[in-house]
Amino acid sequence: MRVTLKECVWETVGDDLLVVRDAREAVTLGDPTGRVAALLGELSRGAWTTAELSDALVARGFEVTEAEVADGLAGLDSLGLVEDADGRWLGEPAADARHFSNLSFFGAYAGLDRPRAGFVRRLRAAHVLVLGVGGGGSTLVQCLAGLGVGRLTLVDRDRVEPRNFARQFLYRHRDVGRAKTERAAEWVREYDPTIEVRAVERWISGPDDLADLTGGVDLIAGGVDGHPDAGLWVNEAAVRAGVPFVGGGGTPSQIMYQSVIPGRTPCLACDAADRPAPGSSAGAALRLAEKIELSNPLTGPMATLIGSLVAFEAKRHLTGFEPPRAAGGRIVLDLREGLAPSWQPFTRNPDCPVCALAPADSRERG
Ligand SMILES: [Zn+2]
Repeated sequence: MRVTLKECVWETVGDDLLVVRDAREAVTLGDPTGRVAALLGELSRGAWTTAELSDALVARGFEVTEAEVADGLAGLDSLGLVEDADGRWLGEPAADARHFSNLSFFGAYAGLDRPRAGFVRRLRAAHVLVLGVGGGGSTLVQCLAGLGVGRLTLVDRDRVEPRNFARQFLYRHRDVGRAKTERAAEWVREYDPTIEVRAVERWISGPDDLADLTGGVDLIAGGVDGHPDAGLWVNEAAVRAGVPFVGGGGTPSQIMYQSVIPGRTPCLACDAADRPAPGSSAGAALRLAEKIELSNPLTGPMATLIGSLVAFEAKRHLTGFEPPRAAGGRIVLDLREGLAPSWQPFTRNPDCPVCALAPADSRERG
């Protein structure tokens, strides 16, 4: 492997070396002989094997063995400062330019055994089933396309209407009356012709209506609206198929996203069993609130934020650059608290009839 230095700067301060890659994470390394500074200097000039680096340091007057250089590189790797030089790029000039910012982002999470291009390749190989391309969903589609998810199946049953224009920026006035899935798929094709996109115009009235769409899918994202149990339908379809899913939504004062990994985390049905009883006053308030949600009170900034947060959680699921933050629960951002987030884990119901439907292999993984 050839090793290179990530984007960073350093300065010698007495016997120490101050190395900064992210201003929040400055690292101070003991370097009384200047050997570490010399190693960083050589690394920053290109891509090297351990043997080449040790030769270069010896030529500069440092007495180092190849084993010591290997130890030094392992140390720099544990600090997130070096990476596999050949994994910095996808190796196709057009794709490298198109994914420039994606590669740059994943650079922060790359290491000697985690090339940054590997994260982008996982996204390009992924198939995401997107449920709903309206509020939230239209931003979700755009973010997933920007990430370069290779296959998208878009499901919706609505046509573009004038009332969508407060928040659904995928659509143009001349699209009024068209099927949203058709226009959304057209947008994706125009944005990035390498993405394979399929439009499915379908009314979802239960988990069975999604069963034929989950095969070969890596993630289900978004949600179905129009019925109080729609979230549970998606949950059941995802758990049955053993496919993780991420959903989001909001009220006039909160926005939220949640994700479920079948067989590993509690699911939305576990959470529903834990909700206040319908006869209680809290239960009655929840039931009544569902009617408000149907009136679509979310404006552009809220709907796009929900779509972005769902896409970000999807990025975690699909690449593993960090664990999914919402898995097995809900992250709620409170508009009255400056969008401060809080984590609300679902309580696992050991007798959950939906979790019991997870395929055996997904339960074994958990
Ligand atoms: Zn469950």
